[in-house]
Amino acid sequence: LYYLGLYVSGKEVMESTLTARDRVGVQDFVLLENYTSEAAFIENLRRRFGEKLIYTYIGSVLVSVNPYKDLEIYSKAHMERYRGVSFYEISPHIYAVSDNTYRAMRTERRDQCILISGESGAGKTEASKKILQYYATTCPVTDHMSTIRDRLLQSNPVLEAFGNAKTLRNDNSSRFGKYMDVQFDFRGAPIGGHILNYLLEKSRVVHQNHGERNFHIFYQLLEGGEQDQLSKLGLERNAQKYHYLVKGCCPRVSSINDKSDWKTVRKALTVIGFHEEEVEDLLNIIASVLHLGNTQFGEGEDGETQITTEPQLTYLSKLLGVDGPALREALTHKKLTAKGEEVSPLSFEQAVAARDALAKAVYGRAFTWLVAKINQSLAFKVSHTSIMIASYFEQFCINYCNEKLQQLFIKLTLKSEQEEYEAEGITWEPVKYFDNKIICDLVEEKHKGFISILDEECLRPGEPSDISFLEKLEDTLGGHAHFVTHKLANGKTRKAVGREEFRLIHYAGEVNYTVNGFLDKNTDLLYRNLKEVICQSDNQILSQCFNREEVTTQKRPETAATQFKNSLAKLIEILMSKEPSYVRCIKPNDAKQSGRFDEALVRHQVKYLGLMENLRVRRAGFAYRRRYEAFLQRYKSLCPGTWPNWQGRLADGVATLVQHLGYKPEEYKLGKTKIFIRFPKTLFTTEDALEAR
Ligand code: ADP
Repeated sequence: LYYLGLYVSGKEVMESTLTARDRVGVQDFVLLENYTSEAAFIENLRRRFGEKLIYTYIGSVLVSVNPYKDLEIYSKAHMERYRGVSFYEISPHIYAVSDNTYRAMRTERRDQCILISGESGAGKTEASKKILQYYATTCPVTDHMSTIRDRLLQSNPVLEAFGNAKTLRNDNSSRFGKYMDVQFDFRGAPIGGHILNYLLEKSRVVHQNHGERNFHIFYQLLEGGEQDQLSKLGLERNAQKYHYLVKGCCPRVSSINDKSDWKTVRKALTVIGFHEEEVEDLLNIIASVLHLGNTQFGEGEDGETQITTEPQLTYLSKLLGVDGPALREALTHKKLTAKGEEVSPLSFEQAVAARDALAKAVYGRAFTWLVAKINQSLAFKVSHTSIMIASYFEQFCINYCNEKLQQLFIKLTLKSEQEEYEAEGITWEPVKYFDNKIICDLVEEKHKGFISILDEECLRPGEPSDISFLEKLEDTLGGHAHFVTHKLANGKTRKAVGREEFRLIHYAGEVNYTVNGFLDKNTDLLYRNLKEVICQSDNQILSQCFNREEVTTQKRPETAATQFKNSLAKLIEILMSKEPSYVRCIKPNDAKQSGRFDEALVRHQVKYLGLMENLRVRRAGFAYRRRYEAFLQRYKSLCPGTWPNWQGRLADGVATLVQHLGYKPEEYKLGKTKIFIRFPKTLFTTEDALEAR
C-alpha cells in the first residue's frame, strides 16, 4: 500500500494521471513515518530513483536526482498536465514548481524566485532550462514578446559557450555564478529578463587541471569556424597547437560536439541581436587569448627578457587593435608608478605572469561585457513582478555562497512556517536548529573575518605571501570553533591538515583548503602599463571594458573576494525581497551514469544540503495540512454527517468529520482555512478507511 494518493484533492485528474509506478515510496518526505531517519530518507530517494521518479518533495521544496539520461517527462503534453494543478494532485515535477510559482506571482502579485542549488553536475542548469522552457511554452505570448522569449532561451547557449567548461565532475560545468530574472506583465506574459553574473573562474583561461578543458568557446571556434575566418584570426584548426588549450590533456570530449555547438552559438548571437562588428570584435578577443598563450619569452643578449615569438606579437597587435611596439614593451616591462614614468624590465617569470594576467583580464572582462550586452537585449525598463532563477558555483567562494544561502534557506523556511501558523491562528512552537551565522561571520566579518584578512594581506607593503597570509589567519582566527590549521594548541601538529592548508568547518562538513594561490587570485595583477596599452584599443569591446580612469586613478581596485562578498550580499538582499521556492539537486554518482545510485555520495549531499534539517523543521509542527474544502471533499464519505454534502461552514464540517473518525485533540488543529494534522499515521489510518470502503 502506497500513500501517494493522500494528497488527492478530489479532482479526477489525480486518478487518471497517477499510475502504480508513481506510488513508489512517498512522494513527499513529510509522509515518511520515520522522518528523523537519514537511512529511511535515502531509501525513499533510492527506490523512487530506481523507478525513474527523480522528483520528490519536502513540503514545497523539490528534491531532484540527476537521471543522467533523457526521461520522457518533459513533453508539451507534460507541461499541459501541470498547468493550474495543485502540488499534490499529480506526481512531483519541476513543472509543478514552475507552475505554482507562476500562479502565486499572478494571484498574490508578489515577486517570486526559484532557488536551485546542488553541487556541480547535480542538474541545476538543466533545471533552470526546464523552468524557462515551461514558461516559454505555457505563458501567453504576442509577437513582440516572442522576441524576448527567444532571446531569453538563446542567451543560454551563449553564456554556456563562454562561461562553461568540461571539468572532472561535469562535462558542461558552469564556471560562474549567475542568476536570471524573468519579468512578466500583468497578463502573465514574459516581457523581459536580466542576468547577473558573478565571479567567472578566470584562472581556467590560462590553466586547466588534468582531465579538464578551457571554456567551450575556444574549441568551438577552432572546430566550427569557417576556414577563411580562422585564417583571418591567424588560427589553425587544431586545439593541440594552443598552450592554453592543452593543459588538461583532453581537447575532445565524447559528449560534446564543438562543431555543431559553434553553429548554435553563432545563430544565438544573431537572435540576441549582436551586430556583425561586435561578433568580429568578440572573436578577435578569443583569438588573441590563444595567441597570448603561444607568446613565448626568452633571454636577450644582455640577459633581459624578450618575446621570442614574433608572429604572435603581430597577430596580437592586429586582433587587440593596439600598437605593436607598445604591447611588446608592456609585456616585458613594468612601470613603477612610484617613480614617475620609470620602467623596469620583468624577469622571465614575471613576464609569463603578466602575459597570463592579460589573457585572464581580457577574457574576463569580455565575458562581463557579453552578459551586459545580453541584458540590454532583454531589457524591459518598467519594473514588473518577476520570477528569478538562480544557480551557483568555485571552491571557497561556492562554499561561502552555499553557507549564505543555507542561512537564508533556514531563515525563510522557518519564517514561512511561522507565517502560515500565524495566518491560520495556530500556536507556533519554535524549532531548534543550527544557525550557521557563526560561519558566515568567520568569513565575512569586517576587520577580523577571513576576507578582510585576505584583503589586508594582499594590500600590505613588503613581501606578502600565501604563507604569511596563513600565519595572519592563525593569529586572528586561531581558536575559532570553525577554523583549524595544522597547529594544535599544545604545540603539537595535527596530521589531517597540511602545513600549507587550513580547514573550515562548514555547516555541511569539513573542507581543507590549500592556501597556495589565494593572494594571486584575490588581486588584479594586471600591470598598469599593460592596462594603458589596452585602453588605446581599436576593438570596441575592449575599449569599453578598459577605461582610462582606471589607469589614472590611484585607488586600488576591489579584490575578487570583496567583489564576490558584495555581489553575494546584493543577491541575498534581492532574494529576501521575493517569495522563494526551492529546487535541491542531487548527483547520484560521480561517473555520470544513468541508473547508478551511490548511497555514500547521496548521503553526503543530503547532509550538506541540509535536507534532514529541512524535513525536521517542516515536520516539527504538522506533517500535513490541507484546505478544508479539499479535505472534506476527499473524506466526507467516511461520515454520515458530512455525506453526501456538508451544508454549513467548512470548518464545522471538518470538525464533525474528524470527531466521527475519532481524531484525538493532540493529533490535529483547525486553523482558519486549513486542517493541520500532526502525524502522518493519523492520515494513513483515514486513508486506509477510504480504501477499505
Ligand atoms: P549543474 O548545473 O548542477 O552543474 P547540469 O545541469 O549541467 O549540472 O547537469 C549535468 C548533466 O547532467 C547535464 O549535462 C545532463 O546531461 C544531465 N542532466 C541533468 N539534469 C537532467 C535531467 N533532468 N534529465 C536528464 N539529464 C539531466
